[in-house]
Parts: sequence; structure tokens; C-alpha cells
Amino acid sequence: MPIPYGRQWITDADIAAVVEVLRSDWLTQGPKVEEFERRLADYVGAKHVIALSNGTAALHLALLAAKIGPGDRVVTSPNTFLASANAALYVGATPDFGDIHPGTLNLDVAKLEAHWQPDTKAVVAVDFAGRPSAGPELKALCERNGAVVVEDAAHSIGSKIQGQRVGGHPWADLTTFSFHPVKTITTGEGGAIATQDDALAARCRELRSHGMTKDLARFQGLGDGLIPESALGYYEMPEPGFNFRLTDLQAALGISQLSRLDEFVKRRAEIVARYDAAFAGQEFLRTPSPDADTAWHLYVARIDFAALGITRVDFMNRLKDLGVLTQVHYIPVHLQPYYRERFGYGPGKCPEAEAFYRECLSLPLYPAMTDADVETVIAAVMANVQI
Ligand SMILES: *Cc1c(COP(=O)(O)O)cnc(C)c1O
Repeated sequence: MPIPYGRQWITDADIAAVVEVLRSDWLTQGPKVEEFERRLADYVGAKHVIALSNGTAALHLALLAAKIGPGDRVVTSPNTFLASANAALYVGATPDFGDIHPGTLNLDVAKLEAHWQPDTKAVVAVDFAGRPSAGPELKALCERNGAVVVEDAAHSIGSKIQGQRVGGHPWADLTTFSFHPVKTITTGEGGAIATQDDALAARCRELRSHGMTKDLARFQGLGDGLIPESALGYYEMPEPGFNFRLTDLQAALGISQLSRLDEFVKRRAEIVARYDAAFAGQEFLRTPSPDADTAWHLYVARIDFAALGITRVDFMNRLKDLGVLTQVHYIPVHLQPYYRERFGYGPGKCPEAEAFYRECLSLPLYPAMTDADVETVIAAVMANVQI
């Protein structure tokens, strides 16, 4: 079995938790979803958590809840998965991209400020590889300009900034998580929004389920002069939403996985430390810059393939022959054909992200890796990064 770049870790306890729900009354919209939301809120230190069907739905709903729409610009990092930018398309806004900082590989706040456009109403700050990207500087910049901060924390559950967990700190208006199997904890498919804002949370809950409300105080009636006195058999839709619900089966898995998150983070940190030590001082491989508060989701090495006289594809194939699978994070999103054709973006728009793309390679990193797996990866890399 080759070593994948990432994979889930499912135990008998996880399986038992899901089976228990299968035997219960509620497969969806039941108590496990609420329990998962409460536990996740406690863990990250958020006032509200809204569980959702996936991380992409979380980004979509976050922008919708913040009333971002046509005529608004949404700036994100090009060094991300497609979803961070596509969410802006879903709400009819204009996606745009700021360049990354070469050290953090997250949005460069100074450049963002220098290129600020007056129609920018939201910044989707992506926590690349797990390193937090939404902090006091970004929040202050956005606040001055009337824009919201949405932190795409698909990689960074468990990470901290200034001692506070991502999802619980005050420098993002909405924080989105993903529980896809390659992420740090999984529910199969799944996602969530964390926020400290009561009104945003209420909007997220309503929009998650078709935009339906059963809140008596909000009933307007059906135009027949009658305002219903009870939600019994009755609901209203002030605004259309979606079905972005997580099931109780998934929530039960999420609760079980969350109980092991600290263990996952610790094991990931051990593997990162082992890689850092093994690769220190290499001329053609740069390790990610260290950060003690980051719960690492990816270990992305920067390899000077040009100096080594090899293409990345050939390098990846050599490692594959040695039983080690790697991945590329990320193809700069502004260079995707759709974004080039529709918005006129192209090479040169985000030089740091483009330079990083040419050199990046994600090595296997997941908590179920054995020490022997880690040594296999190190040996395979070392055999190929020297001339
Ligand atoms: C995985 C990921 C998403 C999308 O999450 P899904 O749960 O797969 O929809 C969004 N942003 C980033 C940075 C991701 O890595």
C-alpha cells in the first residue's frame, strides 16, 4: 500500500457512534447535530456553530448571511482550493485575488491594503496548511472599509492565534470549517460556520434550511389578513435558502472525531518536527516556516525542481515508485480558465502565489502515519533532492 498524502483515521468508537444513530429515531435534524454544534463551539471558543453539509456550503452561506451579492467584490487568496473563490460566484459577487506573503503563504495584508478596491465587501482569508490568516491587522483593514472577514479554516481547526483558537477569536466575522476526509477531522462530507454574532448565526440557521422560519416574532402572514399565533403546522419563508444540512449520522462521527482532535494535532506536530529535522539545511528543499500555534494540516515543501533538473511530475512519479504519494497545493485559482476568461485575470496578477505553485509539493501528513511511514517518506525525498 503506498502512503497517501492524507487520509482519515476511523476507529471502532467512531463506527459505534454512527451505528447508534442508525438505530435511533433521528437520522437527520436530530439531537446529534445540536450536540456536535455545542461541542465544536466549546472547543473553538465560539458563541455559535452551525453545522452544514460541507465546507463549500459553509463559505456560500457565510457570504449570503453577510449579505454579499451582485456589485460586491470578494477578495481571497489564490493559494487555495477552488471553493474559496467559487463561493463569491454563487452569491453573484465578483471574486478577486490578492497575492500571498512568501513567508506565511496566506493573503499579504499590506498588498491587500495597497490594492484595495472600493467595492470590496468581503475578504475570504484562507488559513493555508493550517496557519491562521485572520488577525488584528486584517480585521482593522476590513473594518475601516466596511468589509466582512470570512476565515476559510478548512485547514486550521485546532490552530491558535494569540492564544485563541481559530473560530473563537474576534478577528473574523464568520469562520468556515470542512470535515472532508482529507481534513483534520472528518464527517465524510461536512462543514460548519462559527461566529460570535447572534444575528449572523440566526441568518445562517435559517438559510441552511430553505430560508424557513418558525419564529413567531417574524411571522408576516400570507396576505390574507391573518397572522398565525403558532408555528404548529406553519412556517414562513422571508427569503429563499438552501438545504445545506448535516445529518445526525455525520454529526455523531464528528462528535467522536472531535474528541480525538487534540491527539490528531499532537501526532501531526510530531511528524512535522521529524520532517523539519530531516530536511534542515537542504539546498533545494525549503521546509515550511515554523509556527508553534499552528495545527498543521499540510506539510508543503518548496522544492527547486528547476535547479534539480527535474519536472515536478517526474519527481512525484519517482516518489510514487518508492511508495510515497504526494499532492500539489495549490494551482493558483486566478489562473483557472474560467477566471481568466470571465474576469480577465492571468499570469503576473499574483507573482508570489505563482512562484510558490511552481515549487510546492505536499508530503504525506496524517495522524495514522507510523514512524516507519515517516522514515519511508524522508528516505524517498532525500534520495531525490540532492544532485
Ligand atoms: C476542502 C476545502 C474547502 C471545501 O470544503 P468541502 O468540505 O470539500 O466543500 C474549502 N476551502 C479549502 C481551503 C479547502 O481545503
